Amino acid sequence: MLPAADQALVDALRGAPGAAQRRAIAKTITLLESTRADHRARAEALLGALLPATGGALRLGISGVPGVGKSTFIEALGLYLIARGRRVAVLAVDPSSSVSGGSILGDKTRMERLAGAEQAYIRPSPAAGKLGGVAAQTREAMLVLEAAGFDTVIVETVGVGQSEIAVAGMTDLFVLLQLPNAGDELQAIKRGVMELADLVVVNKADLDEAAATRARAQIGSALHLYGAHGAHGPHAQAGARWQPRVLQASAAQGRGLDEFWAAVTAFHTRQSASGALAERRQRQTEAWLWERIEAGLAERFRHHPAVAAALPAASAEVRAGRLAASVAARRLLDLFH
Ligand code: GDP
Repeated sequence: MLPAADQALVDALRGAPGAAQRRAIAKTITLLESTRADHRARAEALLGALLPATGGALRLGISGVPGVGKSTFIEALGLYLIARGRRVAVLAVDPSSSVSGGSILGDKTRMERLAGAEQAYIRPSPAAGKLGGVAAQTREAMLVLEAAGFDTVIVETVGVGQSEIAVAGMTDLFVLLQLPNAGDELQAIKRGVMELADLVVVNKADLDEAAATRARAQIGSALHLYGAHGAHGPHAQAGARWQPRVLQASAAQGRGLDEFWAAVTAFHTRQSASGALAERRQRQTEAWLWERIEAGLAERFRHHPAVAAALPAASAEVRAGRLAASVAARRLLDLFH
């Protein structure tokens, strides 16, 4: 049983869209992001109450270097989807963000039209911290928004490897935006990130159609070399293999959205039918479980009295080269009960 105030929060969250629901979403996410132990306890009880109502959204990750057009694309896509009756939430994972600014989505002038839409909810990245913390909070915010009935959750991230892995690990489909001048070398494309992509969109095609077409072909053959996704696992034979596709778009002109959404829908339908999507989500939640356990263990380890007492001397010995790191680690772990 939740305390009355928190039950009221759940009721408002699960209730009709509108101002009361928005306030309840903001309040719940703020509780989830709080570092205060009492807030955390309330937030966890709330999350438990909301969990049965989560999972209903199409979860879309979008990444690309600064300037590629992420916010322009997300705004155009968000408005496109709202016009088709969907409710769209936008979240961000930016490990470099801070309360003072510099955060993606932190700038209030971005996505103004989408932010003003009744059926949209935009949340900037949680303040800087360890990536695990930022990603954990974003993942929990996603669950809150699903419980509030948002059927599309877009998670935006900047092009810094770790955050892309985190976002690919919490979404159903990961999209990489690229510029048309990827060039003959394709050097701008990090293979690791490319391998995460289920869809690649060459944005700003309006700037140079010929270059965009070339980039599309080059990226397409690079993806082909990396091979289809989902080639392993129990569904490998069940039609779950997905050859990542490359599309062209002009976010500024709102072009390419039909083709993009058709590709997203095709992916989602196919992966749902084959069971690959359920499997992907199960893998994600299990990885999440372990990520949280490891983060919690490391935290407890550092604060354990015997460990905290021995740690400075041990790390000094390791730094000075007098003690092997593995030996020091084992000794410290032996102190941790
Ligand atoms: P982000 O940093 O990835 O979020 O990029 P923005 O969405 O802020 O876009 C960076 C700049 O590129 C802005 O000046 C946009 O107006 C512009 N831009 C975005 N999409 C397009 C496009 O499709 N065509 C053109 N010509 N410019 C675009």
